[in-house]
Amino acid sequence: MGTLLPCRMGFSPCGTSGVMMRGQHGPKPILHLLVLLMAGQVGLAKESAPWLGVHLGVSSNRQATALTDVVGSLAELGINAIVAEINYGFEYESHPELRGRDPITKEQAGKLAAECRKHRIRLIPQFQCLGHQSWSRNTAPLLTKYPQFDETPGLYPENKEIYCRSWCPLHPEVNPIVFGLMDELIGAFQADALHVGLDEVFLIGEDACSRCKGKDKAELFARAVNDYHKHLVGERRVEMLMWGDRLIDSSVLKFGKWEGSENGTARAVDLIPKDIILCDWHYELRPAYESVPMFLEKGFRVWPASWKKPDAAKAFVDYSLAQRGNPRMLGHLNTTWGAVQVKDLAKFEPLLIAAGSFKPRQP
Ligand SMILES: [Zn+2]
Repeated sequence: MGTLLPCRMGFSPCGTSGVMMRGQHGPKPILHLLVLLMAGQVGLAKESAPWLGVHLGVSSNRQATALTDVVGSLAELGINAIVAEINYGFEYESHPELRGRDPITKEQAGKLAAECRKHRIRLIPQFQCLGHQSWSRNTAPLLTKYPQFDETPGLYPENKEIYCRSWCPLHPEVNPIVFGLMDELIGAFQADALHVGLDEVFLIGEDACSRCKGKDKAELFARAVNDYHKHLVGERRVEMLMWGDRLIDSSVLKFGKWEGSENGTARAVDLIPKDIILCDWHYELRPAYESVPMFLEKGFRVWPASWKKPDAAKAFVDYSLAQRGNPRMLGHLNTTWGAVQVKDLAKFEPLLIAAGSFKPRQP
C-alpha cells in the first residue's frame, strides 16, 4: 500500500527570512525583512530552527475545522509548519465550477490561518499540479469540466489501466485557470508559500497529446515547474515547494518508479530554479536516502518526508540529522495519507519521532 499511495501530500517555520538570512537564496529586500521583524512575524531567535512539518489532505470544510482544532496541540509538540493539501476543496470564486464537495469557506480558511499564526505555525496550502488529476475511477474537477486539458484525452475510460490522469503542460488554457486558483489559496490562507505537488507524474509527453507527442519528458516537466515558479515566486513573491520524486533518476539511485523517476523526467532537476524547496519523500526503511545529499549538492533546500512506518520514519530522520551540517537540510515533514485521523494528529507516532529528534535545542 505504501508504494501505491501517493507520496504527495518551508522558510524557517517562522518565515522565509530565517532561511534568507543565512544567505542561501535570492536576497529579499532588507526593507521587507525589517517590516516582517517589526510585525513580529520573524523571530530572530528561531531563525535556524528546523522545519517540523505535517502534511495532510484538507479538502473539505469539515476537515479544515478539525485541523483548526488541533493546531494548538501540534504547536505544543514543536510542529511549526503545516502543509494543507487543498486541491479543489475550496470555495473558489474565479472558477466555482471547480469546487469540490463541502468546500472550505473563506471564513474557515481565515480561522485556520489565524490559529496557525497564533501558534507560530507556518501554513502552506497545496494545489496538486499536473499529475494526480484522478484517483481510482474519480477524475478531479479540472479534467471533468475541461476534458480537453487531458494529456490523454478520450483514452482510459473509467481511468482503467492508469495510475492517475495528468493535465497537458502545454495546453495554453490550463495555467491561467490554475494560477487563479493558486492566487485564491494564497489569499484565503494568508500564505507566503505554496506547494504545487508534482509527484508521481506518469502520464507526460504522451503520444495521445498533439502538443506533447515526441517531446523530451524532462523538458516538459521542467517547463511545467518553471511556469509555476514564474507565477508564484516571480510574480506573487511567495516560496514554492514541490515533491522531489520526478527529479530522482532511479537508474542512478535505486528508488524504483514511485519515489524516483523511471519515465525520463529526472534531468529536469538541472533545468529548474534552485530556490524551489524539494520535499523528498521516502516511506520505506532503507540504509541510506541518497537523494537528500544529491539535492543538497545541487543547491536545493530539501525537506525530507516520511509517512506511517515508525521504523522507516526514524531511519529517515536519523539519516537527515546526519546531514544537518548543511543548513539547506530543513528538518522533517511527516505525511499522513489517511493513516491518522485529524483529531489524533498530535499522537501520530512518526510525528512524535520526528518532533522528538529535531526538537530545538534549549539555549
Ligand atoms: Zn500535452
